[in-house]
Parts: sequence; structure tokens; C-alpha cells
Amino acid sequence: MIPISQAIQIVLQHTPKLASEGVALPEATNRILAEDIVADTDLPPFDRAQMDGYAVRAADVANTPAQLRIVGESAAGAGWHHQMNSGEAVRIMTGAPVPIGADAVQQVELTREPNGAGTVEILESVEAGRSIVKQAAEIKSGETVLRAGDDINVQTIATLASFGYASVKVGRRPRVAVMATGSELVDVSEKPARDQIRDSNNYTIEAYAKLAGATVKRLPLAGDDREELKRQMAAAVDDCDLLVTSGGVSMGVYDFTKTAFRDLGAEIFFERVALRPGKPTVFGRIGKTLIFGLPGNPVSVAVTFNLFVRAALRAMQGASETSLTQFTAVLAKDVKGSQGRESYLPAVLQTDEKGTLFAEPLKWGGSSDFVSFARATALVRVPADAGKVVSGSIVRGLRLPT
Ligand code: AMP
Ligand code: MG
Repeated sequence: MIPISQAIQIVLQHTPKLASEGVALPEATNRILAEDIVADTDLPPFDRAQMDGYAVRAADVANTPAQLRIVGESAAGAGWHHQMNSGEAVRIMTGAPVPIGADAVQQVELTREPNGAGTVEILESVEAGRSIVKQAAEIKSGETVLRAGDDINVQTIATLASFGYASVKVGRRPRVAVMATGSELVDVSEKPARDQIRDSNNYTIEAYAKLAGATVKRLPLAGDDREELKRQMAAAVDDCDLLVTSGGVSMGVYDFTKTAFRDLGAEIFFERVALRPGKPTVFGRIGKTLIFGLPGNPVSVAVTFNLFVRAALRAMQGASETSLTQFTAVLAKDVKGSQGRESYLPAVLQTDEKGTLFAEPLKWGGSSDFVSFARATALVRVPADAGKVVSGSIVRGLRLPT
């Protein structure tokens, strides 16, 4: 049995980075950048007015009211590109370039423009620099603004667009095959007969894998039959980067997943992790394809997928951050640690009115309790051999992906 941290290290060590590909900007959200993003212009590209009003020389309006002659107009997209002299003003709009010679913008509300006079009255003085964003004050041309390995999310789209990335290089999507094993399983579309249950793991894994950026192929349900497992696995590994199975990795007489992996010549890198739930998780490789044998219990699937498989999928795409987001919170209910194993317990995170983050572990019906798990937003970490951890303790954990 190896510690979780070591298991994650082993996963990352054996996970190859896939090639990159170009995608059009509208398709880039939720992908991983495979190139540094470099500014090709200053931001702002020119001294920019931040207000609608008048470009002036601050010295001209030190004593107010001050009369200035209007010599032009600078609008967004149509600037006034002449020298502005003392005693002059230029009518200016938000986003427009500030004329040479002006050093401040007075907002229109603090001015008066008598009809047809060709002059403006500035009612209050302004200090030099007011309502002007200087060229390159935000970003200098040539600066690296995002790095290969960063996540592209909606917040990064404006940056990509502004620097001309109509298409952007991202890590290729890993191709994942999922395969639920168990002779008791029927598909969601069927009514379970005697001794049967509906498969949920294939759908859970598919959903999490897509959140992690993968494309997913669901394989037919496989019974607990060594030959059938081998046949399906052999066919699957030929056209995917990563195969995830669920079920059949425990000590039961009909748990054939590992046997089938080995029959196919798999190298097994680990097969027992000091984790609750999820101890019998298997990680290995057949040819070039990574293989994960997750336990069958639906909550164990959610925990082990997010700790191990997700890390591999993100590493394949070149992500610099492969783990879930961590949190620190106040425990809202007593929990018990497990002997010799670190626990990751499903929990709901909530902030109280004072701003304190609380983690409330869900009523633990065991690793098969997927109906309780439906409310989970996080996993609370309880160190191995921690004994009883009381309500009010500070705990750490991982936020589930959304
Ligand atoms: P196993 O790891 O094969 O011993 O399965 C552990 C438990 O998880 C058993 O109660 C199985 O019926 C259940 N289980 C296994 N695979 C699935 C699945 N794909 N969907 C829902 N439950 C499953
Ligand atoms: Mg089984």
C-alpha cells in the first residue's frame, strides 16, 4: 500500500504529454494553453481618455472657471492628431486618443459648452494625468501575459482576443475509453432484472473525464468474465490514450480486472493506495495506453478518478496545475480517520455570515452511498490514523470540479 501523494507522483511520472493542436478562439474555452501568449501591442496602445469630456492642459484650468477654445474632437476610433496648444481644448470621448499637448481630461459634467460659441467653460480644475491611461500602462508590447500550461477559461478570452489569437495552440484532448465491469450491471436505459443494478460508473467517469478535457468512448458493459474482459480491453487500448475500468479490482472470486490487465501484458505501477475510499485502485500501462482500474463503488469512483485519473488527463494536455483546487475550512461535524489510510470524505462547503468557510461532511453511508454524494461539492481530507477529528477543527481538502 502506498501513500496517495506517492501514487499521484507515479501517475504523473508515467503520463506523457500529448501533442498540441490549434483551435479557433471560440473553441478554446476549458482547454490548456500549449504556447505562451505574448502581447503584440501596448495596452492601451495610445494615451487613452477614461471619461467623456475635454482634453485640456491642467495649467490652463488651475483657476476656474476657465474659458478654452475648442479646436477639435477626438472620438473612439477617430482621434484628433494635431498639437493642442495653451488656451485650447479638444472634445474627447471615452476610449479616444488624448491629443499631443493635452495632459488631463476634465469630465463633461464639470464643464459647460455655450451653444455655438466654439468655447468651453471648465468649471473645476484637474491635476495633470487625470482621466488618462498612459500608453502601455497596463501591458507592454512583447510581454508574456499567459503561459503554456495555463487553463483557458472565460476570463482569459479577452486577453487572447485582444492580442490577435484568432486561433490558439492547446493540448490535444486525451481520448478516454470507459468500461464498467460487473455481471450485475445493465445500462441506464434498461430495467434491472433480479440481482441486477444499473451501471452509473461509466456515466460518472464520462462526465468527469469531459470536465477534465477528454473525449470519451463508452464501451459495452463487461461481465465478470476473464476472456470477455481481455477481449474488450485489447480492442479498447488500440484507439485510446487512457482506459478507465470500474469494478473487479477487489479480492472477490470474480474480480478479474487485474488478471485481465496482466494477461494483456500490462505493467502495473501500483495496485493498492492508502486511501479511503479507493484502496484497490490500479494504475498501469498496456503498450502506450495508460490504464486505471478503479474500484466499483460509485463514491470510490468519484474520489479515485478526481485524485488520479484527472491528474493524468490534465498532465497529458500539458496543464501546469494537475490537482483539484485546495481549500482550508472549519469542520462542521465530527469525523473519524481511518487506520493506515488517508480519507477523502464527501462534504458540502458553505460560508457563514461572518465569512468563515465550513466543511460539512455528508452523512456517510459508505462508498456505495451515491445518493448522499449527489450533494457533495468537496472532499475533506482526514490524515491516516487521525482518530476522531472534532467539529471546529481546521481541515483541508479538495473542491470537486464543476
Ligand atoms: P466491485 O468493485 O466490482 O466489487 O464492486 C463494488 C460495488 O460497486 C458492488 O456493489 C457493485 O455492484 C457496485 N458497482 C460496480 N460497478 C458499478 C457500476 N458500473 N455502477 C454502479 N455500481 C457498480
Ligand atoms: Mg464487481
